[in-house]
Amino acid sequence: MDPLNEEHTRMYFYENRLKTFEGWPFDEDCKCTPENMAKAGFIHTPTENSPDVAMCFFCFKELEGWEPEDDPQREHKSHSPTCHFIALTKTVEELTVEEFFKLQKERHKNIIVKSCNQAVGRFEEAAKLRRAEILKTTLEEE
Ligand SMILES: [Zn+2]
Repeated sequence: MDPLNEEHTRMYFYENRLKTFEGWPFDEDCKCTPENMAKAGFIHTPTENSPDVAMCFFCFKELEGWEPEDDPQREHKSHSPTCHFIALTKTVEELTVEEFFKLQKERHKNIIVKSCNQAVGRFEEAAKLRRAEILKTTLEEE
């Protein structure tokens, strides 16, 4: 699932976020249950080595290394203080159309920042490889 895909707008809804938390390692007797994670805007984005990665569907902040006593709302606010979603004082269903569009505009900005960073990362990685190849060739020629 590509978080930058337009289809991702359905993640504005709690139920859709909650559904992503299948196999989430924290379930009972803790603060970071799937329900609380989803309420705080997170979706579960596990990788093979990190089963507890969660990402905000709105600001795309990724957090891992969760502890049972971690409060998802508080963690979200402290690690991503500019996220417009976690700062909402009402639910998505209660927003006016205008408020929703303003929010959506902010999310688009986040998408642009995220995809630019990814592109820069890919470019730097490719440049690093190319530099190593050139260096290797040069050394072999000497
Ligand atoms: Zn966020």
